[in-house]
Amino acid sequence: MRKFSGIQVSNGVAFGEAYLLDRSRICVVQRNITREQIPEEIRRLRGAIEKSKTQMQEIKKRAGSVSDKYAIILDTYTLLLEDDILVNETIENIEKDLLNAEWALTITLEKFTKLFNNINDEYLKGKQDDLDLVVHGVIKNLVGHEQENLSDIDRPVVLIAHAISPSDTILMPRQYVLGMGTEAGGKTSHVGIFASALGIPAVVGVPDLTQQVNSGETVIIDGINGEIIIDPDEEHYELYKRKQQNYLRYEKTLLKEVNEPSTTRDGHPVQLMGNIESSHEVKSVLRFGGEGIGLYRTEYLYLGNSRDLPTENDLYQNFKDVVRAVHPAPLVIRTLDIGADKPLPGLDQKAEENPALGLRGIRLSLKNPIHLINQMKGALRASLYGKIKILYPMISYAEEVTEANRYLQKAKEELRKEQIPFDEDIQIGAMIETPAAALSVRQILKVTDFISIGTNDLIQYLLAVDRANENVAHLYQPFHPAILAVLKLIFDAAAQANKPVAICGELGGDPMATALLLGLGNVHELSMDPHSIPKVKKILRELTLDEARQLADKALALDTAEEIDSFIREEMRKRFPYDFDRDSAFGEKTA
Ligand code: PEP
Ligand code: MG
Repeated sequence: MRKFSGIQVSNGVAFGEAYLLDRSRICVVQRNITREQIPEEIRRLRGAIEKSKTQMQEIKKRAGSVSDKYAIILDTYTLLLEDDILVNETIENIEKDLLNAEWALTITLEKFTKLFNNINDEYLKGKQDDLDLVVHGVIKNLVGHEQENLSDIDRPVVLIAHAISPSDTILMPRQYVLGMGTEAGGKTSHVGIFASALGIPAVVGVPDLTQQVNSGETVIIDGINGEIIIDPDEEHYELYKRKQQNYLRYEKTLLKEVNEPSTTRDGHPVQLMGNIESSHEVKSVLRFGGEGIGLYRTEYLYLGNSRDLPTENDLYQNFKDVVRAVHPAPLVIRTLDIGADKPLPGLDQKAEENPALGLRGIRLSLKNPIHLINQMKGALRASLYGKIKILYPMISYAEEVTEANRYLQKAKEELRKEQIPFDEDIQIGAMIETPAAALSVRQILKVTDFISIGTNDLIQYLLAVDRANENVAHLYQPFHPAILAVLKLIFDAAAQANKPVAICGELGGDPMATALLLGLGNVHELSMDPHSIPKVKKILRELTLDEARQLADKALALDTAEEIDSFIREEMRKRFPYDFDRDSAFGEKTA
């Protein structure tokens, strides 16, 4: 038996026969060319890149059926192929050193790999894998290399490979792929998004994996703890079978309750809703028992379409489809939140020294209101088909809400002129996700119908910790006393103003935080990744408001993030042993 650790990117446990995708690395030969041959080599390079782009677009078309997020990832690959630095460097290698195109491209790739290797950042390392994948696709086109065809798989297998390319994911017969393990890839790799969209357990980032496995051997992919076990002995085989059964059983238990009311044990209701990035995700929200959409991140409608930005009519059609699907539950549409971690290539933004504090969210919309008005008109027109609310992101001044509301009036007037009906009383809300918004929430509440707390950014800005930077990830502590104090302040102000509060950041979907959030104040809505709804619902249904308040009061009295964190984890484990005690294992204890 051999056991390897990697990065878990898709939950669950898979057992099966290994199918080793043994792509012996393509052999690239160095060839010196004459000066006269330079234009021909450059033409070959450009031709191969164009071919890769067409292939990528073809794959992208089919990827939409897996998930929109997956299709968007593939767009970033096309952008890499359009990267001038990559092309220009390679052309320079061809011209200066009189090299054939494939060798020149290999040298460029090596140079970038060295640069990436000096950076200790998980996110950028993921980018390096992307680059590697894209460049190898071009090299294959240059040398005319045929790929081993995954469509030959005709029985259930666990796929083991150095890397799984986007074309592999499209070609593979998905019904036969029980699990996946790869050497390449990081937390944010496309394989993870693909696998979790299809519910296939997957572990990536296992060095030399392909040299450790033979086709036909029994492999276990433990997508819960990020382990790959090859040729397990009887004892481990049984252990992981139990783990798989326990995981499936627990999932089933959660799913059984999805249509039960989302109220505490003593009857206090909290609406549990889904966060979505594309209309395709509505299905998951409904499947997991979500009552409406608490956050529609509309950026992805633009990101997936960077050459052709959506028109008012496109937006209207899209919003109409979503609100009809969730009717009579509400749909909260957030206006564009472009910038910082969500840049948009088509919007012609200038590079900023410090984008997280730059022209992002509502600031960008107010500076360049064309898209804001289109979104508002699209939302207003769709409001005839269900309950739509509009939410403004990255508010730090109450005046920004007032100014955005003026554009809303303008959008309404235009529609009246065009004699298009809409919901005159459409509700508007502000994201509370900057310290300024939190501390001036009393004023913001005066100009809004509701507020929604974006804990992802609120924590980032309150603690001055970049939410995407691995180097400071240990400092990103939702249970910091400052966060608890600010959340309480927001709840108190909203209660005074008698206006509803939602939470739509990740914390709202963390079942470990459910009791604390409920106890800190009057939460009307928790909006989260659809997959998180069943577990949060289960916890909510077993809690009483009193219990939650006692827990929150005790947490508020503690002095450090560490104390609060251990206190909450301990209490929740005691109170819900079945749900938390085995999160990390799903092993023996759960028998
Ligand atoms: C947040 O900041 O918590 C939030 C919900 O918005 P996003 O994650 O899209 O920035
Ligand atoms: Mg945010």
